[in-house]
Amino acid sequence: MGDEKQELLERARADGVQFVSLQLTDVVGAIKNITVPLHKLDEALERGIWFDGSSIQGFARIYESDMYMMPDVSTYRVLPWTEGDHRLARIICDAFKPDGTPFEGDPRGVLKRVLQRAQAMGLRYYTSSEPEFFLFRKDQGAEPVPHDVGGYFDFSPRDLASEVRQDIILALEALGIEVERGHHEVATGQHEINFKYADALESADNLMTFKYTVKAVAQAHDLYATFMPKPIAGINGSGMHTHQSIFDPKGDDNLFYDPNDSYHLSPLAYNFLAGQLQHARALAAIVAPTVNSYKRLVPGYEAPVYICWGQINRSALIRIPRYSVGREKSTRMELRCPDSSSNIYLATAAMLAAGLDGIERKLEAPAPIEESAYELTEEALHERSIGTLPGSLGEALAELERDPLLCDALGERAYQAFVRAKRREWNEYRLQVTPWEWSRYFEVV
Ligand code: GLU
Ligand code: MG
Repeated sequence: MGDEKQELLERARADGVQFVSLQLTDVVGAIKNITVPLHKLDEALERGIWFDGSSIQGFARIYESDMYMMPDVSTYRVLPWTEGDHRLARIICDAFKPDGTPFEGDPRGVLKRVLQRAQAMGLRYYTSSEPEFFLFRKDQGAEPVPHDVGGYFDFSPRDLASEVRQDIILALEALGIEVERGHHEVATGQHEINFKYADALESADNLMTFKYTVKAVAQAHDLYATFMPKPIAGINGSGMHTHQSIFDPKGDDNLFYDPNDSYHLSPLAYNFLAGQLQHARALAAIVAPTVNSYKRLVPGYEAPVYICWGQINRSALIRIPRYSVGREKSTRMELRCPDSSSNIYLATAAMLAAGLDGIERKLEAPAPIEESAYELTEEALHERSIGTLPGSLGEALAELERDPLLCDALGERAYQAFVRAKRREWNEYRLQVTPWEWSRYFEVV
């Protein structure tokens, strides 16, 4: 057994770990895991763990179901809320076929593939996200009741959740995730925690961890946490704005930075931006992939609707955070349409692929829009050729099906599985007859 594995075994023993959760992510972004007692870890590290791929959504078909998952040793973390006989560590795994080659449909593998493409172009992709979420009380009836009545940046006593947020931050830091800040968001019961930027694969792993950490800590406070994009109509929804930058392969120079441009963006940055704008309608299907996502992407709630970019403009799809002197490395662009209902690995892979396409084809970015896009008239939008994001999951899927570049980025396997699952979801929704329809039509029609 290699040194790395031996070291990990010793570390797990010293950490008092009793069980290890070996994790994969399915095509719709749910974590799947196999738990092994600590004494089975050396075997898992040596040979991997065989599993029936046909029981994980988007993995194998029934007749080719045998696969194995191989732990990525660098992702070992003890879950800080577990103790004693139940002390649990998690290790994120990669999926392999019986012949030892990576399984093409594994979402984490899809991201690795696109990252390798970037690497071959001499580019290193960094991301950091701003996941927003709601805390709800558990004693609710049919309607969810937000946990507090605080507002943006509020300080207690109205912000009852500040202690919950602190506990989440403590848990994240114990998991090795460096937190930048946490605050109450605009809506009642809504919060945001941001963590430091990292290599895109590490950030995606961190986000997966973040989601269940928030849920575990909320649970310990007798609350529900949800990342649902629009849990309550009429108030802000929850996004997962993603800040992105491209560095040189060593991670020394931010290739998005240019001192001579008014936005401090380089030609490469503009190409990347143009690529994401050009693929935005299809990209939406992957980064905002639920029926509920499209109830968030409507005018008036700080979520993007129009396919444009700007600096101060929070209604824009891409925002360029203001540059401050001496902070060249933090030059970045913030894509605002993603939400946490996405499969983070596929979402990150698709965002990068769209940007790389812009770089490869040297696409030119349109002029920035600095007024609120929500206020622009139909004519003004038309005049400036500003398109809109899809209005529904169905529309977004149709766009994705017309975008060979993004299909290619996911690879045939993951793409087919994703579209199949999402079409099913959309059709299931379409067939519902809702209370809204009853109240709107029953008596008048
Ligand atoms: N919650 C808003 C959204 O749905 C964003 C608020 C903000 O700018 O942080 O994207
Ligand atoms: Mg926010």
